[in-house]
Amino acid sequence: MWTIREGFRDTPSSTTWPDGALLRKARNLREIARNAVEARKSKKTIPLEELNDFLGHLVSHCILKAKSRIEFRLERVYRQKTVEEYLAPVAESVTELLSHADFDLVRHCEGEQCVLRFYDRTKSQRRRWCSPQFRGNRAKVAAFRARAKRSR
Ligand SMILES: [Zn+2]
Repeated sequence: MWTIREGFRDTPSSTTWPDGALLRKARNLREIARNAVEARKSKKTIPLEELNDFLGHLVSHCILKAKSRIEFRLERVYRQKTVEEYLAPVAESVTELLSHADFDLVRHCEGEQCVLRFYDRTKSQRRRWCSPQFRGNRAKVAAFRARAKRSR
């Protein structure tokens, strides 16, 4: 699931969210993001209201972290007390994509049964899968088919 792949933990144990609330909201945000990306990709008007509603829940502040005695890094810390706050950083990422990305490089994954899109940051700009795992599966399927054909 994309939430796990993107490094989202399960709900923090200190929260008392109703059952399924995070999943419902995450699916809602996924739909909003999908619609916005599809609209942007096909140069249609992007529906902004729902995405901006999500962004309205974003509460964050910066902290300074020491990498060493002379190196520092600015880090953003997000408040995640509600389901909306927990997902708001994802909405922020979607917003950054919509405002900065080259949408010729936003493509559908060619993995069988994969519904994801990815942003191709490779130098050659010829990436075809959202994850190397799909390339591996594809190669295995091709090898299996080749073996099956030879044994016929
Ligand atoms: Zn994929």
